[in-house]
Amino acid sequence: MDISKNDMTSLIDFFEINSDAFIIVNQKLVISYANLPVENYLGVTRDQIIGRRLQDVFKNSQNPLDVKKLYKVLNKRETQHWEAFSNLDGWRMDINIYPINNGELVIKITKIKQMEDFLSESEEKYQNLLNSIDQGLAIVEVIFDKESTPVDFKYEEFNQAFEKLAGSQINNVLDKTAKDLQLNLESFWFQVYENVALTGQPKRFVYEEKKINKWFDVYVFKIYFEGNKVGVLFNDVTERVLHNHKLEELIKIQDELYVNVSHELKTPLNVIFSANQLMDVYLRNDSVENNKDDLIDSNNIIKQNCYRLTKLINNAVDLSKINSGLLMLNLVNINIVDFIENIVQLVSEYLKTKDLKIIFDTNVEEKIFACDPDKIERVVLNLISNAIKFSNPNSEILVRVQGKDDKVEISVKDTGIGIEKQNLECIFNKFYQEDKSLSRSAEGSGIGLSLTKSLVELHGGNVNVKSIVNEGSIFMVELPIRTIESQKPRVQTNFYNNRVEAIRIEFSDIYSI
Ligand code: ADP
Repeated sequence: MDISKNDMTSLIDFFEINSDAFIIVNQKLVISYANLPVENYLGVTRDQIIGRRLQDVFKNSQNPLDVKKLYKVLNKRETQHWEAFSNLDGWRMDINIYPINNGELVIKITKIKQMEDFLSESEEKYQNLLNSIDQGLAIVEVIFDKESTPVDFKYEEFNQAFEKLAGSQINNVLDKTAKDLQLNLESFWFQVYENVALTGQPKRFVYEEKKINKWFDVYVFKIYFEGNKVGVLFNDVTERVLHNHKLEELIKIQDELYVNVSHELKTPLNVIFSANQLMDVYLRNDSVENNKDDLIDSNNIIKQNCYRLTKLINNAVDLSKINSGLLMLNLVNINIVDFIENIVQLVSEYLKTKDLKIIFDTNVEEKIFACDPDKIERVVLNLISNAIKFSNPNSEILVRVQGKDDKVEISVKDTGIGIEKQNLECIFNKFYQEDKSLSRSAEGSGIGLSLTKSLVELHGGNVNVKSIVNEGSIFMVELPIRTIESQKPRVQTNFYNNRVEAIRIEFSDIYSI
């Protein structure tokens, strides 16, 4: 180091603010300068050592500076470095000696922690790091027999997240082999660990742990510098997997809906086409006047089938919205007794010319209740339309509203063909229809009851059925009573027109009407 007088001053300034110890000695190893940290390192004040020979200062130390080495540096004028241990406080010292151009030596002493402290500190950091990640990590040692065949394994180490994910199964497993512990692990895990340890090829997969109903994203990798050890990273992906399952289920339902609805759309469309063709013929033949009745019939058929298409599309859209959680209820307080009675009255007018009777009955005058009236109307009309479809001529349908303390029950009872016992559970399933070979004067898509059930459940209620073949069926809808704050019961405007239209749509697949 070539150092001028000015450089020397700034060097001293630098030593003064440095946390390492710096000592300057002349060619005879007499100390001419020592900075403050020296006091700390050597346990003496700097005044006590300036002017003294270096070897005297270190004489009592068990790790004295190697004076011979110092002379060598002095002669060779080379930088030297060595380590020494101070018995003063058990620290390791890192000593560097630099000759400078005026013949003096700069001795720099840096304290370095003892290796054990160093290691335990780094171990602590490593543990903290492992425990702060939310992925479970385990180190697994694969045990091989003399023929180098993997026979067993043991968990060497794991972090807190792993412990949490694995739950009680992982208690006291450290350093014991899977066989010792009689771990009830599937052979699959042995195969994965062994395979990765043998080939070094990492493996990633999603694993379902059925016992705890969880899914894990697992990554197994070989730890190259650790012999036959593999690392296993676990991530709880249960939420993601369940979400995906739900999406898959939704896609399946949508596909089913698409196939079923497309099929059902064809029937009314064909009917509309046929009626249209007939009208076309009369128009071309100029025989409208002679066939007026047929033309009126055809026109009615077209109208009815347009309603059927509307019903089908409405139901399909609603079912799809319900499945994807998009159907929202528009809740208002209404008197449910009045509401249902009005619907029944309109239906009875609709049925006037038919040989079917519909009767309304209730045990209360008024029951104010918050619901989505359009949805409740769909439910009731669907049940009534089914009762009509499956009723015998000259029979009666009874619609009853029963108010109870905290709920209201709406039931629709018919004396029709009834439902086979084994089919009672399935009729609320999507697209379910009883054997179509039964000659019936109605069509259907098998969506109605499934939609009814979903709409009732959206209101927090439930729907049940009792039926005896050839005697009839009763469908019971139970809805919990709740009201919306600061809202008056809804005044029905344009009730009649809206309801008639709703009935036309809902009854569009009953031919006999
Ligand atoms: P659809 O549009 O076919 O009527 P639903 O979901 O409304 O579809 O009904 C499903 C099936 O349940 C019907 O096809 C029928 O077999 C049976 N069902 C529903 N209501 C009645 C009833 N009141 N009497 C007899 N069977 C019924």
